[in-house]
Amino acid sequence: MKTYIVGNWKLNFTVGEASIYLHKLLRKIPNYRDVEVVVAPSTIALQPLSLQIDRHKMKLCAQNAFYRDYGAFTGETSFSQLRGMVDYVIIGHSERRYILGENDKMIAKKVAAAVRNRVRPILCIGETESERAFGETADVIRDQLTGGLSEVADDDIEKIVIAYEPVWAISSVKGAKLASPDEIGEVVKLIRRVLTDIYGAKLAEKVPVLFGGSVNASNAGAYLMIPGVNGLLVGGASLILSEFADIIEVAKKVSQ
Ligand code: PEP
Repeated sequence: MKTYIVGNWKLNFTVGEASIYLHKLLRKIPNYRDVEVVVAPSTIALQPLSLQIDRHKMKLCAQNAFYRDYGAFTGETSFSQLRGMVDYVIIGHSERRYILGENDKMIAKKVAAAVRNRVRPILCIGETESERAFGETADVIRDQLTGGLSEVADDDIEKIVIAYEPVWAISSVKGAKLASPDEIGEVVKLIRRVLTDIYGAKLAEKVPVLFGGSVNASNAGAYLMIPGVNGLLVGGASLILSEFADIIEVAKKVSQ
């Protein structure tokens, strides 16, 4: 399996800044066949960047889209509009769950809409600090995973990427802490078990599982060495070109 490095730019960069960043990143990194580099700019930058990106080197990812393909949904962008323009979409990010009020039902519809429109979903799941403190991590992971995948048929599970992002480890969260490889390894094992229960071991093995939470160039190697971790979802550090390029280099070394 490839190693996935996904940069989530969140609500940062103007279209011009995003374009300059992409230009520099494309010049800086070679075409690594075993590392899937993915960048997720704001929706407004997707169209121009889709014309600029070299898809041999990296892929384009939306940060969100709506689950209906067209209609009276003011302010939304559909997967049918993004079809062909982007390769991936982040769905169920904790910022959308807890700031924008998305629930598992809505997330499941978005996953289904993405698959229907040939956009590969990166389904984010993860417990909050208090859920972990109350011993609810396994239940939260199971619920978010089964909920988010509830409309995904066996034939489509290979198209899904899962990102485990403990909310308490995300750098922008107040008092964020670094997750330990043991803590991550345990949840990644659980994710694979739940996938196996639903889809069987053979299909479950094909689903990449990424980790996200305060990843930078110094800790990326340790996180990528955790058994079962197939890549990283990077927020803050992906905004710094040299740092993101270094993470890609680390992924290249680890995947050799
Ligand atoms: C994220 O929000 O998806 C994330 C992983 O952010 P950071 O790397 O900044 O913790």
